[in-house]
Amino acid sequence: MSSLDDLRARCEALAQGPLRTAAEQGAPGRVNRGLVKALAEHGVLAEVFDQTPKALVLCVIREALARHCTEAETAFALQGLGAYPIVLAGSASIVDYWVPRVAAGDAVVGFALTEPEAGSDAAHLLLRAVPDGDDFLLTGEKTYISNAPDADVYSVFARTSDTGAKGITAFAVPRDTPGLDGEQLDLLAPHAIGRLRFTGARVPRANVLGEVDGGWSVAMRTLDMFRPSVGAFAVGMAQAALDAAIAHATHRHAFGKPLATFQGLTHQLADVATRLHAARLLVHDAATAYDAAPGTTASLSAMAKLFATETAQHAVDLSIQVHGAQALERGHLLEHLYREVRAPRIYEGTSEIQREIIARALFRK
Ligand SMILES: Cc1cc2nc3c(=O)[nH]c(=O)nc-3n(C[C@H](O)[C@H](O)[C@H](O)COP(=O)(O)OP(=O)(O)OC[C@H]3O[C@@H](n4cnc5c(N)ncnc54)[C@H](O)[C@@H]3O)c2cc1C
Repeated sequence: MSSLDDLRARCEALAQGPLRTAAEQGAPGRVNRGLVKALAEHGVLAEVFDQTPKALVLCVIREALARHCTEAETAFALQGLGAYPIVLAGSASIVDYWVPRVAAGDAVVGFALTEPEAGSDAAHLLLRAVPDGDDFLLTGEKTYISNAPDADVYSVFARTSDTGAKGITAFAVPRDTPGLDGEQLDLLAPHAIGRLRFTGARVPRANVLGEVDGGWSVAMRTLDMFRPSVGAFAVGMAQAALDAAIAHATHRHAFGKPLATFQGLTHQLADVATRLHAARLLVHDAATAYDAAPGTTASLSAMAKLFATETAQHAVDLSIQVHGAQALERGHLLEHLYREVRAPRIYEGTSEIQREIIARALFRK
């Protein structure tokens, strides 16, 4: 077995055992600190924070966790997404303070880009950062920020000049910063998410991540790294849905025969298995390309995320059809996946924005 196969097997076992137990002890819609700590104690976070993060490793872990415990997958992914701008561009003192705490599961992180008036068009964000002596004063609002308002630190993208994407700066902003508060949002899926309000929040210049006015590239490099792995999350959910459909169709009888003998169902499952295999290959290809040459793979990453997330939506929907009414009962795996599978087609760039990235690359050539 390769080391990636070992890693996959270990994460799948953890997701069915201690991580599932920790996930069940969390409150819906809030950060589950016990689960984050368990991810650290079982060495899963170390796979990303103890070395230079690798996109392919991230994908293998996310798929394996998602197949058995979406809550563990999401808690893991958010630690990476929130901390990556700090790892990528933070000063030595900021990295030394936050990264060990995040890796140990003692600090929870958020990635704060989206605003009420800037979602897909994130380069037009409005949250202002105005220099004031050795500090910046941040004023404005962020919304749909995963792990908010409970996270201990946020990678925040703010406007420092009026030149679109070129006028954005990234900051590490601790939760206890005076002038920062927020509230929880209640979404369809059980996701820790909320709004953040900045009213003259004072952030030291030392907390700038990278260069002043250089924050857009920090955000884009982070999303480039994570996009294929959103696809991996989707592949894990699609695999769980297909596994459940096969098990159900094997045991459930109608008209005196197992559902698995009805070609009307099995051919649809064959199509899902084919698309799922293609999605996994696209995800692994994009991640491998990223690891070989970061910064050159935007189109491949977009293809992987687009195809995998759309495939997962279809896989979960078909699995519900195969199960019939029981899949719609509250607490059923498919009812859970049906709610979970929707958001990845929207966050980290909607499916339409992925098509835009792919199309732009076509015409640049
Ligand atoms: C569960 C969840 C977690 C999230 N976590 C985070 C987080 O941690 N940090 C963060 O910063 N944000 C986060 N987000 C926000 C997410 O990134 C945004 O919702 C997303 O970028 C889309 O922005 P919007 O919702 O404002 O939609 P809009 O940008 O208003 O888009 C509305 C519709 O218009 C379409 N559209 C827009 N522009 C174009 C175009 N050029 N061509 C074609 N169609 C277009 C979109 O595809 C979409 O269908 C999260 C969202 C969700 C649902």
